[in-house]
Amino acid sequence: MLTNSKNVSLLLALSIALINLAFLSLVRDVSANALIVSTVISFSASYILIYSVLEFFIFGEINKIYSILDKLRKDDFSFVENKKPGKTKNILSRINQEIYAYAEIKQQEIDELKKAEAFRREFIADISHELKTPIFAAQGFVHTLLDGAVKDKHVRTRFLKKAAKSLDGLDRLVQDLLTISQMETGIVKMDPEKFDIYEMVREVFDQFDEKADSREIKTCFSHNCVKNINVWADRQRIYQVMVNLVSNAIKYKKEGLAIVEVHIEDLGKQAEIAVRDNGVGIPQEHIKRIFERFYRVEKSRSKDKGGSGLGLSIVKHILEAHKSAIKVYSKPGEGSEFRFKLDKS
Ligand code: ADP
Repeated sequence: MLTNSKNVSLLLALSIALINLAFLSLVRDVSANALIVSTVISFSASYILIYSVLEFFIFGEINKIYSILDKLRKDDFSFVENKKPGKTKNILSRINQEIYAYAEIKQQEIDELKKAEAFRREFIADISHELKTPIFAAQGFVHTLLDGAVKDKHVRTRFLKKAAKSLDGLDRLVQDLLTISQMETGIVKMDPEKFDIYEMVREVFDQFDEKADSREIKTCFSHNCVKNINVWADRQRIYQVMVNLVSNAIKYKKEGLAIVEVHIEDLGKQAEIAVRDNGVGIPQEHIKRIFERFYRVEKSRSKDKGGSGLGLSIVKHILEAHKSAIKVYSKPGEGSEFRFKLDKS
């Protein structure tokens, strides 16, 4: 009976009117008509007043709280997107605000969990897809050999070499995946030290020299490159960054002589390193996405060249861990430049 403002107002207004009537009837010389009029007025005025107060300040707020609690019970957080309740001194409105704030935090947690779940699903799908290719290829060569091809000496060597190439690709992919997952989970901590970046790039060039000679590729420093410049960074990781960038510059070369040039500039507190090539270049619409895991401009070309599709993603992670970023400038058919900065020692 007392669960809505109408009933409560009726009861209270009736009590006030009766008390009023009782008082007036004690007074002499009051006519019956006056008593009736006074009772009706006091009843109506009290009813309107009490009803308004209850409806606007108490039951209205309680209903709002009740409807929010009901939605929370049903895991419906849609009301969080609606307008927030404004600041107020009314205690019930404040309770309403508290519930709203709680729901907002829960909604954020749910959104983050959904995002993480989607990311995990996509990552697993990508990995399965990437692993399938080299495994199937190696499996195919081995089974063909077992089915009799092993007797032909020429075919045997050729197939074993192909199987080995697929397994090498698989090994690279697993290594890259391990690096990425360690970087993303934050297991790998950077171990900075002072080292000469020019000397380090020279080591990277040495590593590629054999490969470069056989494929009409020239690795060099720019004519105005700064020598003997010490930076403060994780040497092993920056070595990996340079290997990935130089190997991409070699992988994505055009026909004919390809030039991979490294330029180092002293910016005062930082050193800027640029890796330039005159290769196939990257179309503008792909530039934003090449740092995503497994993103390739030309799928077949990259896989042909043994690319795992994770090289630039690793580069980005390592540089972010050094509070640096990588920039790309590229023109299809003309070449690309990848540029990043490191703190000087
Ligand atoms: P991948 O293992 O496929 O090389 P990366 O993450 O290293 O993977 O590179 C992503 C994609 O970006 C490559 O597939 C390639 O299409 C493009 N790319 C990267 N570096 C270069 C470059 N120097 N020249 C042209 N395209 C490049």
